Amino acid sequence: MPGPAGLDARPWPYFDGTMAPAAGLLQAACTCGWRGSTGPIGWGQEPESTEKPFREEWTTHARRAATGLADRLLRELQSVLQGLAATDPRAALTAAADMERASRLLLTESADAARSSGDSWAQVGRAVGISRQAAHERFGKPPK
Ligand SMILES: [Zn+2]
Repeated sequence: MPGPAGLDARPWPYFDGTMAPAAGLLQAACTCGWRGSTGPIGWGQEPESTEKPFREEWTTHARRAATGLADRLLRELQSVLQGLAATDPRAALTAAADMERASRLLLTESADAARSSGDSWAQVGRAVGISRQAAHERFGKPPK
């Protein structure tokens, strides 16, 4: 269905490159402003295969961004708790114990989500920094 100014508003995989304006290149982009590398559209290929390298580049970017955010939050949290430990050690202990419980739950939920999205035990293990078998033993059993 033509959109404003005659642009085709359908997703590009359905666009055969014969209508104007023809797209020339593909590029992954993120709302944070990041732009991936550009590459030609393989009009003769399946959309999935021509998109694949751009999707992978974006996935790598998104993982780095998520990990970077977690690292920053963790450093900030550590700094706050160290300050608290200096002034009110028992309050810091309670806060640290709360964080430990929350982390354990988050690990289990994240492992379940990774498995549901098709990740292998080896991939789950690598993400956590443990072996495939350790990941399976830790996250593969139903909670007791
Ligand atoms: Zn981004």
